Amino acid sequence: MARQEKAVHSAEYWEKRARRKKLARQRQLRRRIAAAAVVFVVLAVIIGVAVRMRKPAEAPPAEPVREPVVITPEATGSTVSVAESDAAAEAAAAAAAAVEKNNTENEMPAEAAEAAEPAEAAEPAEAEPAPAEPTPEPEPIDISNDARASFAVDPSFTDWNYDGDGTKTVYLTFDDGPSPNTPEVLNILDNYGIKATFFVTAQLPQYASYIREAYLRGHTIGLHSFSHDYSVYSSEEVFLTDLAQIGDVVKTQIGYVPCFIRFPGGSSNETSKEYSEGIMSILTTRVQELGYQYYDWNVAVGDGAETVTVEEELARAMDTDADTVLLLAHDGESKHVTVEALPQIIEGYIARGYSFRALDRTSKVIHHPVMN
Ligand code: ZN
Repeated sequence: MARQEKAVHSAEYWEKRARRKKLARQRQLRRRIAAAAVVFVVLAVIIGVAVRMRKPAEAPPAEPVREPVVITPEATGSTVSVAESDAAAEAAAAAAAAVEKNNTENEMPAEAAEAAEPAEAAEPAEAEPAPAEPTPEPEPIDISNDARASFAVDPSFTDWNYDGDGTKTVYLTFDDGPSPNTPEVLNILDNYGIKATFFVTAQLPQYASYIREAYLRGHTIGLHSFSHDYSVYSSEEVFLTDLAQIGDVVKTQIGYVPCFIRFPGGSSNETSKEYSEGIMSILTTRVQELGYQYYDWNVAVGDGAETVTVEEELARAMDTDADTVLLLAHDGESKHVTVEALPQIIEGYIARGYSFRALDRTSKVIHHPVMN
């Protein structure tokens, strides 16, 4: 009996125990499911955050804005005044040197220029949105194996060539750029396998990278002016400050400050008299003491006037029998006629047996008579 009781008790005991165990297992299972759910949620949150953080890095970087076309009224205005002054300077030089024929129709009447100025300046700078990111600093050019690094300004070099070398050579020179026209000019020069010289300004700083582009495509870079405002002729100090500023711009692009310069309006300009009597006599000497050399021109396409035609530019460009031709043209934004005339000018000189060169330290130096 006692044994049977024990057996019954034992059966109940085991049954209860089994039930307790089952409940315990169910509780444990629920806890595990809950824990798994928590882990899942936490993981989901972590992955979500990680994906969100990685997304911008994976997105392609914004293209650097290479040629934002933001044309400010100031820039437009100064271009017009430059054109006017250069045209006047060209005429003065031509008369003084008696190299060129009457160019009076080349000059833009002052009233016309003034009338044009407000109209252009009034153009809304509507414009495309400003670039999202500033133009990145260009990577430095390795000039250690570049023969053209010897074009760096150097006061110890005095062996300039004022006589030419008897060959029929054209030095195409483009003032006032870079501008929206520069890529087209570079492509035309490439099409003919020709090297030229660009006397640059900082009037349209958004195109500064074209200075580097022109250099890398084998052209010579010279300094024209940072501001291209004739007030640079107020004093020697003002002029040299402006020259140093454009030198810095060019150095950023090509790695050194070149020795070749062209005075705004040329060395024969008389506009400078309005700012300082005798300033050109001082500057023409001073820049050479500092290791620069200045180049004027003996032929001009006459693109100072806004109304000039392709035919007129071609006729003026070819109006010479000089062996060494230093041809003045402009690469300003309003000078698209020059771009259109350029292939014909090049072909005209090729037909006459000329070859084309970019300025270097052996090139013939052409100076106008100093008039102030
Ligand atoms: Zn100029």
